[in-house]
Formats: sequence, C-alpha cells, structure tokens
Amino acid sequence: MTGARYLNSVYSVSESIRQAFKGAMDLILPYKCAVCDGVSDSEERFGDYNRFYGELYGEDSDLHICGKCLSALNPIEDSRRWFLCLSNPVENDPCPGLPLYMPFPYRGIVEQAVPKIKFGRKNSLARFFGAILGSYAVNEGIKADLIVPVPLSEERLAERGFNQAFEIAYPVSKMAGIPLSDDCLIRTRDTGRQSEIRDIGKREVNVRGAFEVSGAWDVTGLTVIVVDDVATTGATLHEAAKVLYKAGAEKVLCIAFAGNRTVKNAEPF
Ligand SMILES: [Zn+2]
Repeated sequence: MTGARYLNSVYSVSESIRQAFKGAMDLILPYKCAVCDGVSDSEERFGDYNRFYGELYGEDSDLHICGKCLSALNPIEDSRRWFLCLSNPVENDPCPGLPLYMPFPYRGIVEQAVPKIKFGRKNSLARFFGAILGSYAVNEGIKADLIVPVPLSEERLAERGFNQAFEIAYPVSKMAGIPLSDDCLIRTRDTGRQSEIRDIGKREVNVRGAFEVSGAWDVTGLTVIVVDDVATTGATLHEAAKVLYKAGAEKVLCIAFAGNRTVKNAEPF
C-alpha cells in the first residue's frame, strides 16, 4: 500500500467513525440550540409555534432553542417599550416625534441571537422573533394599513440570501392581519453597517437618501408600519418614515424587535 493510499484508508475509516459517532450523538442529543449551539430540550414547548409556522410557511420549522436561552428571552417592562426615533432632536426634522415600539432589550440572549440571524443565515430565528414581535404588537393594539420591512441593498440581499427585516415583518403582518409589502420601500444604495457608526448625527447622514417609495405604490392616506430587527438611534427607520411621509402616508410608526434604550415611555432621551 502506498503512503497516500494508506492515509486515504485511515482517513475514510476515521471519517466513517466520525459519521457513526455523529449519528449516535444525534440520537442522544437530537437538537442543537440555534442561539447558543448547546443542546435543545425545548421541543415540546414549541408545539403552538410549530403549528403556526406550518400554517404560515407550509413546512415544519427546523428551529430549536434550548430552555436556558428561551427563559432568558425576557421583554422590557411595558412602560419602556415605546420610544422616539432619533433620540436627539434633529434640526428641521421632517417627521418629529416618530414613535418606535421595541419590546426587547438588545443585550444578553438577543444580542447573541441577532448576529446569528445575519451572519449565520438563520432565517428560522428571524421568523421566530417575528412571531414573538407579532404577538406583542397585537397585544399592544397596534393597527395600520400596510407593513413594510426596511429593505436591504441588492448586494447585501444576495450575500445573505434573505432580508431579516422581511422575515421578522411577515409573521407580524399575518398575526396583526395587516398586509405586507416588500417592494413598496426600496433601498437606493447600500449604506454599510450603521452599527459601526457611533455618532447619531453621522448615522443620520449615512442613511440620508437611502430609500424611496416605489412608483408602483400609492401610500397616500395610509398608516404604515416600518419594521426592522434592531433599532439603535432609529436613524434608519426615521429615514424610511421620511420618504413614506413624502409619498403621502398619513401616519408612520416603527417597530423593531429589540433596541438598547432604557428610558421610560414618553421620557426625554
Ligand atoms: Zn441555547
């Protein structure tokens, strides 16, 4: 046996052992948590969600979250869920006092999960967060004529394969009974990562002119909800709202799954 062949046979034996071992481990530890990669034991707790998912997507959800991560998913107290986009007053703000509903804190489990959605390509996690956000929005009595997710640039969409804001917005739309459009709001250019810009003014400038309302849509007189995954200063949502108002929307409000603000509702920032 030549050296190369010997190595090949050793490799294939160890590979088959590895595969067999993996198969055995899969039987013992069947589910991997989508957030922490630990063992998920939460299958039975997902009964209702799995039914909902099946109705919405016509297939089974492959999402598993361990009990530890699930129990760490706690909303902000309800007196701290409403904010204003752009916490610092912006001169000549064309849509001042833009409301932003954000029920979860962007820390702990959510801070761990959101990058998994974006960079681990876990749209199942985004859909799960969307269903949770939908139930909060319905409980909150939020009503509108149309839901629009914050669009990704074509490059970013091609790179990621899905728009997490759309994945979050879709269950919200179904649960709230509000139509959703993913082609009403268009991104005219990629703006890079807002999260990498610390200064609120620079964030606002960075997204300026990044959106437009499609000529195929007439939003005149409509109440529109703009949905994003995470909102920090609210500059992106504010920019989206600006073009919707300019296109004739009667009222715009913003919803994000999570953010890092802590003030009480209606308190100054
Ligand atoms: Zn976990």
